[in-house]
Order: sequence, then C-alpha cells, then structure tokens
Amino acid sequence: MPWAPAGATSNALTRLLAAGVPPERIAQLHSPIGLDLGAVTPGEVAVSITAELIAARSLRGQLPATAGNFRHHPSTPRAGTGAHKLCQAGDRMDMNTIKAVVSTTDPAQWREGDAWLAGGTVLFSYGSYAFGPRPLERLLDLGPAGWEPITVTGHGIDLAATCTIAGLYSLPGGPEVSGRNWPGLHLVRACCDSFVASFKVWNMSTVGGNLCTSLPAGPVISLCAGLDGVATLLAPGGGSRTVPVADFITGDAANCLAPGELLRSIHLPASALSSRVAFRRLSLSNLGRSGVLLVGRLDAGTALVLTVTAATKRPVQLRFDRLPDADLLAAALDDAIPAELYHDDIHGLPAWRRDMTYRLAEEIRAELAAPEGTPGLAVSGDFWPPRAEGPATGHTTLAKGA
Ligand SMILES: Cc1cc2nc3c(=O)[nH]c(=O)nc-3n(C[C@H](O)[C@H](O)[C@H](O)COP(=O)(O)OP(=O)(O)OC[C@H]3O[C@@H](n4cnc5c(N)ncnc54)[C@H](O)[C@@H]3O)c2cc1C
Repeated sequence: MPWAPAGATSNALTRLLAAGVPPERIAQLHSPIGLDLGAVTPGEVAVSITAELIAARSLRGQLPATAGNFRHHPSTPRAGTGAHKLCQAGDRMDMNTIKAVVSTTDPAQWREGDAWLAGGTVLFSYGSYAFGPRPLERLLDLGPAGWEPITVTGHGIDLAATCTIAGLYSLPGGPEVSGRNWPGLHLVRACCDSFVASFKVWNMSTVGGNLCTSLPAGPVISLCAGLDGVATLLAPGGGSRTVPVADFITGDAANCLAPGELLRSIHLPASALSSRVAFRRLSLSNLGRSGVLLVGRLDAGTALVLTVTAATKRPVQLRFDRLPDADLLAAALDDAIPAELYHDDIHGLPAWRRDMTYRLAEEIRAELAAPEGTPGLAVSGDFWPPRAEGPATGHTTLAKGA
C-alpha cells in the first residue's frame, strides 16, 4: 500500500490520474498518514506515523479505527470495526472525486463539475466539495497554457492569470521595467510580502488563483485594485469581457465570474503605475494574514485614489480630485463603508478593522500630502517604505516559507 502525507495527497492523486494510473491502484492510496494521537510537535507526528505503520503491519493491512476520527480514502473500504463510517470531515477536504484532469485553456470545454486548476493551493487544500453544490469531477489544468507570465509595454503591464507569486515578486528591478519611471511598482513586493505564504504558495500559486479565490486578504487583489487593474475574462460561449479588478471581487470569497468563465489576464495601466503610491498593512500577528491593507495613489500629483482591502469584504475605492483634508477623508470613509461591510473573521474584529482603516487612511493621506521622502511620518505596520531593490532585500523566491 502506498503511503502519502496529507498535504501531498491531492497533488499525488491528480498526477497519478493524469499519468493514467488505474483507479483501483489509486484507491489503495491511504491518507492522511498517522494515527490521531493529538500529535503537535514533529517528534509526536513521527510517533503517530510509526504507530500507524506498526498497526498496519500487525493487522496485515487492515487499518485500525482509532479515537473516532481516523480518516481514510472513501473508496478504500476496510474490514472490521465500522471504520468506513468514519470518513467524514477529513475526506471532504480531500480531492478524491476527480475523474479526469484536462489540459486546456478553452472555456468551451468547461462543464458542470469542472474547476480551473492554476497553482492548486486552494483547490487541493479545500477539497472536492468546497466549490459548488456537487463535488468536482474534472480539473481543467491551466499549467501547460504557456501564457507569457508578464508582458511590459508603454501602455502598462499585463499579468497572465498563470503568473506565479514568485514571478510577480521578481518583476520590480527586472530588465522588463528598467528605465521606466513607475513608482507604482513599489507596491508589487509590498503586496507579495503580504501573503502568509508557504514555499508552495509562493512558487505555485498564481495571480489568477488569488483573484478568483477572492479572499478579503488577497494581496494580488490589493495590488491590482490599487493600480486600477482591469481583468480580461473569457466566456464559455466565446468572446470576452473586461472588468475593473475593484469590481471583479463582489464579497468575501465571491466574484463576478459566471460559470465556466476564465480569468485570462490583468492589465495594469501605465497611468496608475506612473503615480506616487503609499502602502499600509496591519495584521494581528507578525507575518499573519492581513487584517487591513490600504493602498494610496496620487494621480498627476493632486488626485487621491484610496483602495481599502482586507478590512472589508470586497475592495472599496475612494477617489478625490484633490487631496482631501483629514475630516473630508474620514467623512468619505463613513459614506463608503457601512458597518456590515467590514470583514469579520479570526484575523480581526470588524471594529478593529474599522478603526485601523481610518488610521491607515490618514497616514496615507499625510504621506502623500508631504513632499516625497519626508522623514518622521507615522507608519503603522510593516513593509513600508520599500526597502532598497536588489539582493539587499534579503528576500529571494526560494527564501519564502518552509
Ligand atoms: C499556507 C497558505 C497560506 C495562504 N495565504 C494566503 C493569503 O495570505 N492570502 C490569500 O488571499 N490567500 C492565501 N492562501 C490561499 C491561496 O493559496 C492563495 O489565494 C493562492 O494565491 C491561490 O492561487 P492558486 O493558483 O493556487 O489557486 P487554485 O487553487 O488553483 O484555484 C483557486 C480557485 O480559483 C479558481 N481559478 C484559478 N485560476 C483561475 C482562472 N484563471 N480563471 C478562473 N478561475 C480560476 C479555481 O478553479 C479555484 O476555484 C494561502 C494558502 C495556504 C495553503
């Protein structure tokens, strides 16, 4: 019997299916590994795995049902002890209902029960049952699409939906943008650094996957909305449409994608990239998920565009022809964000998010009102002002996470 750690199972299943391994063989895969002993430390986890190996050997492959929540692949019924009754919550987080993986970027191929597969960090974490009324049956794999990740022209930057976070992080300071006076690029690394990113999320997850997951704390949402990004969507019936990223996200984990629609790319206009920017982010814990993330932009040296994300269930954008004073800014926030629009989860209470939104908005206003580089400005949170470009940042694409 092949063994696999929990986190690798879904990836392994997908690859095995794609490689043509028969379902009977795949059904022998057992995961997650380890008896549920309440193990926390690596040593305890090792003991739980070893205990399960010993149990499997002594029971000759009949795995024991222990402690009431022993989980196994539902297509692997086991004899004795009613273990088959125990495949509930854990199994629903597995991706064990997939019958086919299809490499395609053609929305016409989409049908009910399909999901577009980008980096897979959400799909493989949430499992087959989390994406609609019925479990997923096919993954439409965008991996082999071969889309150019980043295209830079005089009109701005086009990010393919399949561009990884690591690829996005490498953009500032890269040859594509050298010589361009685009202060807006400072936001790229600040936003990428706002991910609670493991090695896998950093190197596998994508711009499109982050937007389509549509979490309030989606850092690519903050970046693209803050720079007036426009999304291009391809429809199953042919044709395409464009939507401002600020409108693409409609709520907590909700967006305007119709069934089968494919996010193809995001255009970041040169006009927004040319503006001076300011960034503020707060999290309840060091390197935790963003609770409040605000981006300010000073267009043509006078007009303020303030984009509120993470604090709210969807991006909220405020536009002022001229830099407002503190009172006008606060009043505009009052009007734009009703109490129920502040997000509420373990990463921050709505009241805290609200207070911090006002605080960070005022910090941004003050920063953009002052001449560039003015010392002594209030900066709550991290990652700002941007560190020097290049190796001195101490951040490489491989250094992220464990
Ligand atoms: C340890 C960890 C930390 C994380 N931290 C964060 C965080 O700080 N902030 C955050 O927002 N998220 C976070 N996530 C969630 C997730 O990893 C990211 O949102 C990631 O960017 C998703 O990208 P992906 O390419 O892996 O998406 P996938 O898992 O491939 O897809 C996610 C969803 O989007 C759909 N989709 C993907 N691409 C397209 C497309 N082009 N068109 C239409 N639909 C598409 C898929 O069908 C699926 O429904 C974290 C996850 C983990 C495991």
